[in-house]
Amino acid sequence: MRRSILACLMLSVVLGGEAKAADRPNILFIFTDDHCQQALSAYDDSRIITPNMDRIAKEGMRFDRCYVTNGICGPSRAVIQTGKYSHLNGFIRNGNKFDGTQQTFPKLLQHAGYQTAVVGKWHLGEHMAPQGYDYSEVLIGQGPYYNPPMLKNGEKTKHTGYTTDIITDLALDWLKDARDDSKPFMLMYQHKAPHRNWMPGPKYLNWLDDVEVAEPETLFDDYSGRTSAASQQTMTVSRHLNDRDLKLSGYGTMNEEQKAKWNEAYGAKNEAFRKAKPNMSEKEIIKWKYQRYVKDYLRCVKSVDDGIGRVLDYLDEAGLADNTVVIYSSDQGWYLGEHGWFDKRWMYEESLKTPLLVRWPGRIKPGSTQDAIVSNLDFAETFLDIAGFRVPSDMQGRSIVDLFDGTTPGDWRKSFYYHYYENPGAHNVARHYGVTNGQYKLLHLYALGGERRNDWELFDLEKDPNELTSVWGHPDYKDVQSMLEKELASLREEFQVPKDTQIGRPPKKKPARKPHQNGKAK
Ligand code: CA
Repeated sequence: MRRSILACLMLSVVLGGEAKAADRPNILFIFTDDHCQQALSAYDDSRIITPNMDRIAKEGMRFDRCYVTNGICGPSRAVIQTGKYSHLNGFIRNGNKFDGTQQTFPKLLQHAGYQTAVVGKWHLGEHMAPQGYDYSEVLIGQGPYYNPPMLKNGEKTKHTGYTTDIITDLALDWLKDARDDSKPFMLMYQHKAPHRNWMPGPKYLNWLDDVEVAEPETLFDDYSGRTSAASQQTMTVSRHLNDRDLKLSGYGTMNEEQKAKWNEAYGAKNEAFRKAKPNMSEKEIIKWKYQRYVKDYLRCVKSVDDGIGRVLDYLDEAGLADNTVVIYSSDQGWYLGEHGWFDKRWMYEESLKTPLLVRWPGRIKPGSTQDAIVSNLDFAETFLDIAGFRVPSDMQGRSIVDLFDGTTPGDWRKSFYYHYYENPGAHNVARHYGVTNGQYKLLHLYALGGERRNDWELFDLEKDPNELTSVWGHPDYKDVQSMLEKELASLREEFQVPKDTQIGRPPKKKPARKPHQNGKAK
C-alpha cells in the first residue's frame, strides 16, 4: 500500500529516532567454548578445514593476537558482558555467581534501541533469564551434547537432537521469526562445543577415521626449564583423560537411537584398542589417546562450522549481510596436545590467544589481518562503538573499531595483563598473573605447591615460541625482566588489581555447630 507523501513525512517525524536506529548495523556475535586457533583453518590448516569460519576471515579481518584476561569459561563470559577484568566484575572463577544487576553491554544496547538476544551457552548463572536480553534460550550450566534441557526466557524447555545443531536452529528461528524489523539487533549465538567431553554429532561420528592428525612438537614435554607449576598440573593427555573423554564408556544423555549410532561408530574401534593395548608401549598409548581426543574435538568443531555456514547463508538470503557486523570468537584458547595437555587456564600462548574474526562489509577490507594486541576485554566496548553508543569510562578495554582499517593508533596498548585465579580448582593449575608485549612474557606463579610458594617465569617468545625454557634471572635478560616488572606493576595499578592473593578462593566450609555444654546451640 502506497502512503501519501504527507503521511510519510508525518511518520518520519514521529518515528525519526527509530528510523535512524534501524540504519545502525546489526551485530551477530558467534561464540564457541574452548575453540583454539590451532583448529581453525584461517589460522592453522594443519588439522582441520573450517570453510565457514574462514569465510568470515576472507570477507573480513583476522586478529592474530586476541588475548583473554583470564583463560577460563565463566570468567571470560563475564569479561565480555562487562568490559571489566574479573576482580571488578566479580566473576573470578567458575562456580562464582554473576551479578546480573551490574552494567553490561546488552543493557546499554537495549537503551540505545537495539533488540538483544542470546541463544546457546550462557554459563553465568543458571536459574533465571540472563539480564539485558529481549530474548534468551540458553543451556542450563554446561549443558549436554545431546537432547539438552534449556531455559527459554527463564522457562524450562526440552529439545531432542544434537546440541550444536539445536543452537543453530534457535539462532535461525530467532532471526527469521522473532526479529523486530524496526530495530537493529544484537544476537549472541553461542555454542557449547567444542567443550569437554567432545561428543561429536551423528553426522561426523566417523569423519577422520582414516586420517592421522598431526601431533604438536611438544606432545611429550617433560616440563623441565620451567617452575614446578607446569609439572604439578593434572591436565595431561597421558594421565588425565578419563574413559568418558576417550569414548571408552558412557553415553551422556543420548536416547536409544543415538546410542545405537554411537555404538556403530565407536564399538569396533574401542574393541580393537582394548585388544591391542596390552602390547602397546606407554608412548603408543599416549599417541592413541591423542588421536582419539583430538579427532573428537575436531568433529565437534566441524558441526559448529556447518552451523555458522547456515547462519551466514541466511544473512545473505534475508538481505541482512551488508548491514550486519559478524564476529567470531571463543571464550579462550586451548591445548590440542601442546605441552602434552588438554584444557586451558595458563597464560602460555595456546590458551592465552583466542580466535577473533570480524566481517563488516564496507568497513573492513576483505582478507585483512591485524597484529595489534586486542582482547575479550574490548568486546563490550566494540559492540557499543559499532552501535554508535558512548563507551562508559569505567569499562577497562577499548573499542577495536579503530583497528578495522588495518592501521593501529599510536596510543594503542603495547602490553597486556593476564590473571588466572582458579586454584584450588580443576586441573591444579597454579594461580598466576603476568604481562606480555607479544615479544616477551613475564609470569608470577603464586599458589604453588611444594617448597617455593612463589616463582617467576620469563619467556623470549621469538627465540622460544613454544615457551619451553624460562630465562627469568638470566643475566642476558636483566633489562627485559626489569622493563616487564615495571610494566606489570603499572598495569596492575591501572586496572585496580587488589593485592589480596586470596581473592576468588572458594569460601571455607563452616565447621558443623557444636552443641553447647547444656545441649543448646550457642
Ligand atoms: Ca571455555
